[in-house]
Parts: sequence; structure tokens; C-alpha cells
Amino acid sequence: MDKAILGIDLGGTFVKTAILSTDGKLLAKHEEPTQAIDGLDAVLDVICVASQKVISSAGLANSDIAACGIGAPGPLDWRSGIVFTLTNLPGWKDVPLGAIMSDRLGIPCYLENDANAACYGEFWRGAGQGARNMCLLTLGTGLGGGVVVEGALLRGPDGTAGEIGHMIVERNGRPCGCGAQGCLETYGSVTGLVRTAREGLEGGEASALRERCDGDWDKLTGVMVSEAAEAGDAFAHEVIRTTGEWLGLGIANLLNLFNPEKVVLAGGMIKAGETLFQPIRETATRTALDVPAARAEIVPAGLGENAGVIGAAGCAWERFSQG
Ligand SMILES: [Zn+2]
Repeated sequence: MDKAILGIDLGGTFVKTAILSTDGKLLAKHEEPTQAIDGLDAVLDVICVASQKVISSAGLANSDIAACGIGAPGPLDWRSGIVFTLTNLPGWKDVPLGAIMSDRLGIPCYLENDANAACYGEFWRGAGQGARNMCLLTLGTGLGGGVVVEGALLRGPDGTAGEIGHMIVERNGRPCGCGAQGCLETYGSVTGLVRTAREGLEGGEASALRERCDGDWDKLTGVMVSEAAEAGDAFAHEVIRTTGEWLGLGIANLLNLFNPEKVVLAGGMIKAGETLFQPIRETATRTALDVPAARAEIVPAGLGENAGVIGAAGCAWERFSQG
């Protein structure tokens, strides 16, 4: 058969692996607990085991795999394959992960930032299919993202391009973990949504969320806000609408900058559906320049949790093919 590609998504909780055909068909997938707490060597072993298991479950040998892509949280150097540190994985410092895995698996391995890998996954095989220019926003605890321009990931010389979450949308706005103020992440992530809800409740807004939290706002979660909105709570609905307006503002900037055919939204928050998407689309369309606004479709992601592993494989195949 033609050669296949191996994708690895290295997360703090699970190492996910997948085998894809070179035209992007998912042939097999597997996951193992990362065992991050056991340190570097243990995690490297887990990555190897998870890789070997998925290769055999696809009925293949290592020699059938043309290239392997590893998506990792970083910071890292995608060119040299060195991981500087890994969020939630102790003991990782300046690890030449690409070289180590190439050696241990006998397959050329390519390292990629995990948010960029997820972006490329949606572009290649998910909701971004058919587009040449695409932006991805992953709405979770933080706000990750990526940008594809004319079919290629936008990485920048340091690999830091596409940090959509740290686009500043409010001067003197909420403080962000990056040290700046008013980053989109502080309004448009699940954490931002919860903060918006909390500020309203502390300001005396009437809502069923008040009883659900029993006065302890630390108990408030994005799921609670989403469920309350679905049950008809006007305040919760308004919180999601406000979050959507912030996201729409950020996306308007992306439309003006990149003129993408598609903007793909991923992460747990997209389960809020039209309650979230409607204010996003309205605000983006109203705020962006007419021509890019008319072009862009703002759509939910298609690959769910598989975007990272599929994208890691896709990035590797692209880099391998280009020599
Ligand atoms: Zn920031």
C-alpha cells in the first residue's frame, strides 16, 4: 500500500495517536494516559507505546509510515523540533523531541505547536475544507487559535504567529495571564464568560445562577451559564450574547487582516449553538469591512477532539512532501 502518516497529540492528560492515509483518511486511533507526573522518560515511553499500538492496530509496520507529526503545547521550536518547556508536564526542559522520536520510531518526526496543529486539522479535514484562508479560534479555559494563509500555516519566524487570544480588544481592559490588558481571551474564553457572569451577579443581576452557586461565585462554570440560558434564564442568555459580541469584535479584526473564506470555532463553548453564533456573526459583519465580511463564513469545528492529532499528521505530511 501507499505510505501512511502518524499523528501524535501530546497533552497533559492523554497522548493521542492516529494513523492517516496521505490524503487524510483516518485509519486508526488510540490514546494512552500521559503519566506526566512520572517525568520526561516515562512520557517518552508512553509516546512510543501509543505510537506502536496505533501502527499495529492499523495493520502496519513502522516502515509503512512516511512521516510523523507531534503536536505539543510548547513553547517550542517547530523548525528544530526542540520543546523548551511543556505546560502541565514537569521535567521538560529543552528536549529535542523531534530528534528523539525520529530515532526511537525510525520515522521522520516533525514538531508543531498544538494550537497550530488543530488549526491545520480543521483546515485539511474539518470545517475549513474548501477554504484557502482560514482562522481557528478554540474557546476553552483559554483562547487558542491559528491562521492558514493561502493553504499554509502562518507560523512566523519564532512560531508565535496566530496568537488570536492575545489580540487586544479593549484598552485598559481585563488583565491577562500574558501581562497585557484587554486580550480577547479575557472576554471570549470560557474563563472570560464566567467572569462576565460573575461580575453581573456581583452587581445584583437577577438569575437562577444565584441559587445554583449558593452565593459562592467560585462554583460558577461555563456549563452552568449555558444550561441556565437554555432553561430560559435571561441573564445567562445575555452573558453568552455579550461573550459572542466580544468574539465577533475579535473576528472582525481577523476578517480585515486576513480576508479568510472561513472562521472556524472550536472548543466546549460552541455547544451553546446559535445563542453564541448569532451575536458573533452579527457583530463581525457589522464591524468588519464589507467585502471581507460578506466573504467569510463563521462555522463550528468539524473534528472535535481529533483536530489536533489529525492536524499534526497533516502538518508532518506537508513538511515531509516539501522535503
Ligand atoms: Zn493576553
